[in-house]
Amino acid sequence: MSERPGTHAATVVRREQLSPHLVRIVLGGVESFTSTGIADEWVALVVPGQYQSRYYTVRSWDGEELVLDVVVHEEGLVTQWAQTDCVGDVVAISDAKGSCSVPEDAEWVYLVGDLTAVPAMARIAEESVGGRPVHIWAEAVHEVPGYFGADAGVVTWLPRAQESALAAFVETLEWPAGPGYFWMAGESAQMRAIRHYVRRELGWGADRHDLMGYWSSGRGRRARAVDPAPIYARGRAAGLTDEQIWAEYDEARGRE
Ligand SMILES: Cc1cc2nc3c(=O)[nH]c(=O)nc-3n(C[C@H](O)[C@H](O)[C@H](O)COP(=O)(O)OP(=O)(O)OC[C@H]3O[C@@H](n4cnc5c(N)ncnc54)[C@H](O)[C@@H]3O)c2cc1C
Repeated sequence: MSERPGTHAATVVRREQLSPHLVRIVLGGVESFTSTGIADEWVALVVPGQYQSRYYTVRSWDGEELVLDVVVHEEGLVTQWAQTDCVGDVVAISDAKGSCSVPEDAEWVYLVGDLTAVPAMARIAEESVGGRPVHIWAEAVHEVPGYFGADAGVVTWLPRAQESALAAFVETLEWPAGPGYFWMAGESAQMRAIRHYVRRELGWGADRHDLMGYWSSGRGRRARAVDPAPIYARGRAAGLTDEQIWAEYDEARGRE
């Protein structure tokens, strides 16, 4: 696999089944990778025989091994690959980008997401909360016992009832008094609903939350119709915040 600027070839050194729907892929030989230090940082992953990429959170990077935790769902390009014996496969990952930023004055942190968001929530709880009280709500068909460390704060696993449940659940949350920080990622339609709720009902400024659509429901495997790269570049050039760029991306995917 050829290496272009901003991409890194890596070899799968281990594959572990963490739960029926979560597979840990451990990459080695990727010494050229540099972490952003942002706890929800992600990379674009290209698996063998493919040219399209999919985004995955860097669950950990110790300078030698880079860990991605991959949700395997019904049908998908990486989903199918991650269910094979992929040890020894050479993949490509991009440079990382990150979004999470807990304000200095935050007195509490709430993290909500489905299984795709669990790697980011675990890393945020480990690295970015600075001793603040944290509550994590993780929606999954199967809990992943021990996934969150003992110091991760309060962890509530939510049974996955139906796709529309997570946004409705968030609207029932009681928010602590005082300034805080809310991070959430999951299915894009859910995230659009929550973005409207946070802005219109709660009236929070962009520095108080990061809300990201991680995947779109209800379509078969396909090329990504809305390429985030030009949206990101255009947004950056226009001086938009990450939050505004994510909102634009989600809106564009909603129109697909
Ligand atoms: C910044 C960022 C970080 C992410 N981090 C992670 C991570 O750490 N771990 C992780 O597993 N995912 C993560 N995702 C989500 C992941 O990129 C998508 O789920 C991706 O579409 C999976 O690729 P695929 O090749 O398996 O399926 P695709 O070929 O992309 O999709 C096939 C079809 O499957 C459906 N689908 C896609 N994802 C899911 C899902 N999770 N559950 C049910 N149906 C689905 C859709 O209808 C889609 O059209 C992240 C996304 C972003 C944007």
